Amino acid sequence: MAAIQLERAWSAIARPVRPYSRAVHRTVLRVPARVECPVCGCSGVRFQASRKPRRPNRICPGCKSTERYRALQLYLTERGPVPPGTRLLEVAPIHTVRATAERLGYEYSSVDLRSAKALVHGDLCALPYADGAFDVVVCFHVLEHVPDDLTAVQELARVVGADGDVIVVVPRDRRLAETFEDPDADPADYERLYGQSDHVRMYGEDVTARWVPTGVAIEEVPWTACFTPDQHARAALTGDDDRFWLLRAGA
Ligand SMILES: [Zn+2]
Repeated sequence: MAAIQLERAWSAIARPVRPYSRAVHRTVLRVPARVECPVCGCSGVRFQASRKPRRPNRICPGCKSTERYRALQLYLTERGPVPPGTRLLEVAPIHTVRATAERLGYEYSSVDLRSAKALVHGDLCALPYADGAFDVVVCFHVLEHVPDDLTAVQELARVVGADGDVIVVVPRDRRLAETFEDPDADPADYERLYGQSDHVRMYGEDVTARWVPTGVAIEEVPWTACFTPDQHARAALTGDDDRFWLLRAGA
């Protein structure tokens, strides 16, 4: 109990110098690290909280990764080293995927409709690539922005062909049995309806069933099925995201 009170007191004192506090925390107070970021190696008692949505233990102070980026690092690492020329495409690039990909030997590229961070500009519903051009595509928190997500799913699967993998994460409301969207809704209402002003739907628990009519091969992979409880706890895979959807061209 005393250790917990001391930890809380130190946490309050150290808040203004949070990026530096974790090392001091360990060396001065000798509190063992309970989380470690698989992307950048940063370790500490816990990760930072996110503000929207408000969630504890979510953002790595070293690389700013949330749980989906840490899960990606673990997942691709477990798949092992890749031969030269293995190509990975990130849709709507952000933070850490490039570092993860290049560290593991992938040839990295990125695409977005207009973001200056993207190496290529293109429409997710008409990607500027040949069939099977990539071995892996990473598409995290993008499809909830796309009005025609079924066409986007088909495009993503097309560019990896039958032998690649599209690794998808979408936010969803686990209380909803069915995805909610209203094509006639006023964009001014998107924040109220979908939780963010540039989202066009709120996915429910029917994500896989929703995409089945595309003809794309879909595998829903909860992170509890691919990582050990220790990996889960150390990487703090405990936010709202909890699974990948793996897509590839259907047979
Ligand atoms: Zn990190």
